[in-house]
Amino acid sequence: MNKIIAANWKNNGDKEFIKKYFDYFLKNIKIKNNIKIIFFPPDIYIDYFYNFIKKPNFYVGGQDLVCNSDNSTLTGGTRSEMFVDNGCEYILVGHSEKRIYESGIFDNKNISYKLKNINNLKVVFCIGEEILDRENNNTNNILISQLNDLLLNYNNINNIIVAYEPVWAIGTGKIPSNTEISKTHEFIKNFIIEKFPSLKEKDIMILYGGSVNSKNASTILKLNHVDGVLVGGASLDAIEFAKICNIEL
Ligand code: PEP
Repeated sequence: MNKIIAANWKNNGDKEFIKKYFDYFLKNIKIKNNIKIIFFPPDIYIDYFYNFIKKPNFYVGGQDLVCNSDNSTLTGGTRSEMFVDNGCEYILVGHSEKRIYESGIFDNKNISYKLKNINNLKVVFCIGEEILDRENNNTNNILISQLNDLLLNYNNINNIIVAYEPVWAIGTGKIPSNTEISKTHEFIKNFIIEKFPSLKEKDIMILYGGSVNSKNASTILKLNHVDGVLVGGASLDAIEFAKICNIEL
């Protein structure tokens, strides 16, 4: 079974850090055919990453699209074609740390507009409930409304990767129970299949994200309906992340 292990570096690292990180990581990583490792470094270092990412099974992605592909101008914008030009195959969209700024006020910044304009990149679409949603038993409704953003606007529906990241679990050390993770992933897959009956479970990959580390990753990666993990803080520690990538699956 193929799995994805993804590293979200957010706005961390610099060239010296990246060099030291890969000095350790590349010596200690065991390449396995059934695991894809995707790094999401700060966009400005994507090109620099290619000095180190030469092994098979490694991919690099952008952390967010800040511009669409039409002809409008936007200072500070990056178009999906530019990520592709820079060697990226993947893009994160909808991370909770960005989603809060993505209201519909500025059309060219909102999620649905971005998704319509993504060309040649595979989207890792982040969804997840806030703690209050969880406490009010509203998690599934929130996930449905976030998934609808994806399903109504993304053209490449045969290639869906969703990262289920409960917002309350990000960077907190708290995580849902194994049963909850598995059930929520199943719910997400079933919802997508209901909308697109031609899809099979194997066509949809759901990653779990939120306080994954080398101690809990093995269990999470082996849960039913879990196709991988999206790792934030622990992916910045080369020793931790190598341990996660080396887990036998
Ligand atoms: C994230 O920000 O995507 C994330 C999963 O963070 P952490 O692993 O630090 O909780």
